Amino acid sequence: MGDLLKGKRGLVMGVANERSIAWGIAKAAAAEGAELAFSYQGEAFGKRVEPLAQSVGSDFLVDVDVTDDASLDAAFASIGERWGKLDFVIHAVAFSNKNELTGRFMNTSRANFKHSLEISCYSLIEVARRAHPLMAEGGSIITLTYGGSNRVTPFYNVMGVAKAALESSVRYLANDLGPDGIRVNAISPGPMKTLAGAAIGGARKTFRHTEANAPMRANATLEAIGGTAVWMLSDWGACTTGEIVTVDGGYHVLGMPQSENL
Ligand code: NAD
Repeated sequence: MGDLLKGKRGLVMGVANERSIAWGIAKAAAAEGAELAFSYQGEAFGKRVEPLAQSVGSDFLVDVDVTDDASLDAAFASIGERWGKLDFVIHAVAFSNKNELTGRFMNTSRANFKHSLEISCYSLIEVARRAHPLMAEGGSIITLTYGGSNRVTPFYNVMGVAKAALESSVRYLANDLGPDGIRVNAISPGPMKTLAGAAIGGARKTFRHTEANAPMRANATLEAIGGTAVWMLSDWGACTTGEIVTVDGGYHVLGMPQSENL
């Protein structure tokens, strides 16, 4: 397509299959000339990610569980050895026990609260700290969030709290890393049909509701999220950091559903 990211090398974390948001971003970044490495969570995901990586010209795969420091250390060490630098990271990783993404929020368990926040928020901090020394020429880090962070959406529950913490982390990391030329932003898509998306109670109803009511009368697409990421990763996004950019057909501006749906 173009060469907006020509000469840039990036790590994409969170591709589980071809529906993953991280995959939409990877395809768009590769089409603009980026060279990519992929992290996958365990062997089973690795088998699915390998052919996808190959299809965008990458044979650079690293096995990372973000709760395992040794796997994070090994991944960033191998990036340092092979590339000696890193221009961007896509952090598209989240998890919560499915049983708590339904029912009442007040029933959130201590164990799942900690686990959800560790994987879905704290991991961004661990990743940024390891990416930092490889970004001596500056860089761009993008994470993925959802509007359930600051407004209640059905059954998003503890993930809403995790995303609120993630968005705050984006601002603190942006301030920390700004002097070193590293930008940190989040993309906030509307509901998407992915593995993680399907884990949330009533996901289909939420998807249909946002599609029927968003100003664009459409949910986000992988292509639109990919395009937004390309802008944020490219030199055209040079002065944007600490930002939460919505890609949701405008749903977030609404105060009420459309009149035809009342
Ligand atoms: P997905 O299931 O395709 O991707 C989630 C990824 O997280 C998977 O690749 C999984 O392997 C990874 N992951 C989970 N636990 C991990 C761990 N311990 N270590 C390493 N990786 C781990 O789903 P997705 O919807 O593409 O999710 C990507 C991001 O987008 C998430 O942060 C999600 O919250 C966010 N998001 C999703 C939607 C949606 O509706 N699907 C909307 C807005 C934001």
